[in-house]
Amino acid sequence: MKGPELCKVTDNRLIAGGMYKLRLEAPNVAGNARPGQFIHIKVPGDRSRLLRRPISIYDACHKKGYVEIVFQVVGEGTRLLSAVKTGDFLDVLGPLGNGFSVSGDTRHLFVVGGGCGAAPVKFAASRFNFTGRTCFIGFKSGDAAYDLQEFENSCDSLLIATEDGSIGYKGLITEVLEDELKRNLPDLMLACGPVPMMKAIQQMAEKYRVPCQLLLEERMGCGIGACMTCACAVRDDEDGFIYKRVCKDGPVFWSREVMLDEA
Ligand SMILES: Cc1cc2nc3c(=O)[nH]c(=O)nc-3n(C[C@H](O)[C@H](O)[C@H](O)COP(=O)(O)OP(=O)(O)OC[C@H]3O[C@@H](n4cnc5c(N)ncnc54)[C@H](O)[C@@H]3O)c2cc1C
Repeated sequence: MKGPELCKVTDNRLIAGGMYKLRLEAPNVAGNARPGQFIHIKVPGDRSRLLRRPISIYDACHKKGYVEIVFQVVGEGTRLLSAVKTGDFLDVLGPLGNGFSVSGDTRHLFVVGGGCGAAPVKFAASRFNFTGRTCFIGFKSGDAAYDLQEFENSCDSLLIATEDGSIGYKGLITEVLEDELKRNLPDLMLACGPVPMMKAIQQMAEKYRVPCQLLLEERMGCGIGACMTCACAVRDDEDGFIYKRVCKDGPVFWSREVMLDEA
């Protein structure tokens, strides 16, 4: 990782309810980005907000030198980010963290994402480019769903659920996942989304004995392992559990290790 860089915004658009897709000219990040990693962005135009905001990498093209992120407006930082225009510059640190790890003998991969958590698993599905990738994505409603064509292009089979049934299965994506697991077990699952969804996936990974990695979107301070704001509990044989830093040791952890209740 290099130090912070000023990166030019080449697009920033609303793609679903409260959800934006932003493209940056960032050749250094693009050349090094791995699925599951994130960039740490200084909030533009507000010197009072000292902490950067972590956002997962949604796509990166080494050849063209761009990086894309998808983010949901939840507070002032993401609101200011949503107002950024083409031609503006953002102060970006990254790529940060340890991404998903998929071994060369993986033949059948399930990636599971909920809401803005679908963004990093889309990047994983498109990068780990072998036949046998099933993508499960869940949203509250059709209004919150984004870039479905992009998801479709990134995997071999796409399954969608919305809580109101406006697109795909009516209910939770974890219900669709469990149905599939009863029929067909993958070599590995990768997931990111709200904590209740991750807990359900963690339980299924144990029940069906499928190795699984979870990307935690914990609140974060420095992003480089110095401040411990983002500590999460991870099982440890000797001490019961130890704390690890989501930013530096994660944000991806094996589901059998991470203790989501304590996260
Ligand atoms: C590794 C990582 C990757 C992430 N990737 C994405 C992504 O791809 N897309 C995306 O939309 N968001 C992502 N997030 C979450 C994103 O960083 C926060 O939503 C953002 O920092 C909020 O900033 P804000 O100033 O708008 O909100 P704040 O004013 O800081 O907070 C507004 C509200 O959101 C809550 N909140 C803030 N941060 C988090 C968080 N991390 N988890 C849960 N609740 C939070 C606060 O408690 C508060 O209620 C990621 C977080 C991490 C740690």
